[in-house]
Amino acid sequence: SLSRKLDMHVRLEHDANSAAWGEWRFGAGRGAEDWVFFAVGTGIGATLMTHDTIYRGAFGTAPEFGHIVVSPNGRQCSCGKRGCLERYASGTALPDTCADLREHYETSLPAEPTGKEITQAARRGDPLAVAVMEDFSRWLGQGLSIVADVLDPELIVLGGGVSQDADLYLEGATKAMGQDIVGAGHRPLARVATAELGPAAGMIGVADLARSGR
Ligand SMILES: [Zn+2]
Repeated sequence: SLSRKLDMHVRLEHDANSAAWGEWRFGAGRGAEDWVFFAVGTGIGATLMTHDTIYRGAFGTAPEFGHIVVSPNGRQCSCGKRGCLERYASGTALPDTCADLREHYETSLPAEPTGKEITQAARRGDPLAVAVMEDFSRWLGQGLSIVADVLDPELIVLGGGVSQDADLYLEGATKAMGQDIVGAGHRPLARVATAELGPAAGMIGVADLARSGR
């Protein structure tokens, strides 16, 4: 085995779980008991931690929040279904939303902009890019409200590549989450925070998992 060849303890872990563990030990998740890590990048990866443990489900696939259907008959997803959350609230969703909204707004964006070009244009106040980020916020908030309704976590940490632009959508997504949950206005809301460790979170997390043997 690899472990014997290297004469080291080898640990294989899901990338979202690794990053979540890193954030829980050394970053934005410190001290949280029941919380969710939401990695928004090319898709959405998620991890649920409860009582110091990563929840894996009976067959090890939990939780697939990115593939909750939020728009029946919506955009085609690589998983085979249509209308999955990550087709509307991820880095790769931004160009699709941009194409959908283009005819309604003025813009200086090129015909097929990248996600990065869209977030940069939103910072300059480009009307189309701002509308794309508002749409992103609403979908993400709806996804977070489902998470909050099912799990009632104390904290949701947003990580992944798109979390670097969280200042563009964190407030809108939190507001949408607060409006969409069951008992809106009559129960405590999960705190939504951005990850602190950046792209190194996964590496830090898996190294610590291997070291701790958890
Ligand atoms: Zn899907």
